Amino acid sequence: MKKTKIICTIGPASLQTEILQKMYQAGMNGARINTAYGDLDQYRLIVHNVRETADIPIIVDIKGPEIRLRVERKRTVKKGDVLEVGFNREEISFNHDFYDKMSIADDVYIDNGKIRTRVIEKDNGMLRLLVINDGEIGDGKGVNIPNKQLSVPTLSKKDLEIIEFAKKYDVEYVALSFTRSVQDVNVLKSEARGFEGAIIAKIENFEGVKNFEEILGGVECIMVARGDLGVEIRPEKVPLIQKSLIKLCNQRGKTVVTATEMLESMIHRPTPTRAEVSDVANSILDGTDATMLSGETSIGKYPVESVSMMSRIAKETETAVRSRVEDGKFINISDTVSKSIQRTCQNMPIDKIVTLTRSGYTAKMITRFKVIPPIIAVTPEKRVKKQLELVFGVYPLHMDYRKEEDRILAVAKKLRSMNLIKDEDTVLFTAASRTVMKHASNLIEIHNVRELMGFMNK
Ligand code: PGA
Ligand code: MN
Repeated sequence: MKKTKIICTIGPASLQTEILQKMYQAGMNGARINTAYGDLDQYRLIVHNVRETADIPIIVDIKGPEIRLRVERKRTVKKGDVLEVGFNREEISFNHDFYDKMSIADDVYIDNGKIRTRVIEKDNGMLRLLVINDGEIGDGKGVNIPNKQLSVPTLSKKDLEIIEFAKKYDVEYVALSFTRSVQDVNVLKSEARGFEGAIIAKIENFEGVKNFEEILGGVECIMVARGDLGVEIRPEKVPLIQKSLIKLCNQRGKTVVTATEMLESMIHRPTPTRAEVSDVANSILDGTDATMLSGETSIGKYPVESVSMMSRIAKETETAVRSRVEDGKFINISDTVSKSIQRTCQNMPIDKIVTLTRSGYTAKMITRFKVIPPIIAVTPEKRVKKQLELVFGVYPLHMDYRKEEDRILAVAKKLRSMNLIKDEDTVLFTAASRTVMKHASNLIEIHNVRELMGFMNK
């Protein structure tokens, strides 16, 4: 079983159940809906088909303060062309109004920087942009205006509709694009009141990187959104930013996803470039929980092949992953117990770790040490079970053990009946006993399964 989790963006290339099934068999652990494209009917179809396929989390990615282009039809543009772009649903327009903030000579990049333009005139609510290189513009393409604080609102009208959708369909994650500060996260939380899933803060511009520590305090999960990050900040800065964000997430036991252009060339070809393979491998060595596929699975020609390639790279690389967590001061009991578990795994052969976890927190705290044994996380919460699908090295299982007289014995019996633990295994169990406190897994028991089963009828 692989430890690294794979998120696939679902689109026209992958929304049929037959393809989704193949992607799941190839190693997909989560499905992302990128709401830059499509409409609610399509999102509904994706949710339906994914849920028909597998018990994996759905991530609804809202665009937040991200700027996108609206055009009625695709068109090619040439160097020297001048585009007239408005803010109010003209033939070419932006999805947010930031006219007042723009000045002559500002750079405006379209489609992850593929088309570069510059403002040459500003007049009557319209910008005139000089095209600097040839390319194609299409509806929904991302726009970057680096080094400008545009005071765009956290959520658009479309985002609010999609948040209602996320609530109604009870999806496991909402991802907030262009999270600039913890205030953006708080705006989302208050607008999404009643939403019970988790929030993924996507870090994709300078402000997000600058305010990272504060943002991390407000969410369970981070995405290193390298597509926009590479345009908003220079591309050569992205590798080190990726390493430092992942390291901080590992340190705190927060889930982290590395995204964009991971196997980009597989959109058109059945095999990736060597550089792409190395990039995926390096993100795993950096300590990422999950890697993400975007165009590769949403619009590419080889969605299934992309997932199997990523799985192969993961399996090969994760054998060499080492913990980068530094010894810090006391946080809570689960933190301390997770450190003891790391020590135990270094000290004696443990075949499996089993954590009885309500919120999933202890599972995340253990896995940040990149321990060798698989972590089976048993949780009474169905939603937590699915959310944990994105966490490195964690194999979640739903079981309501709360009424059992001997919870560890009951869980062990169930895992053994499912063949997840074997008689000859040495298993480390951790759980919270005689406490209702949060983040308080306070016991460790180490057992040989056969011997433990002997206590079943005593
Ligand atoms: P996007 O985010 O695919 O929604 O633009 C990811 C990124 O920018 O890398
Ligand atoms: Mn982005």
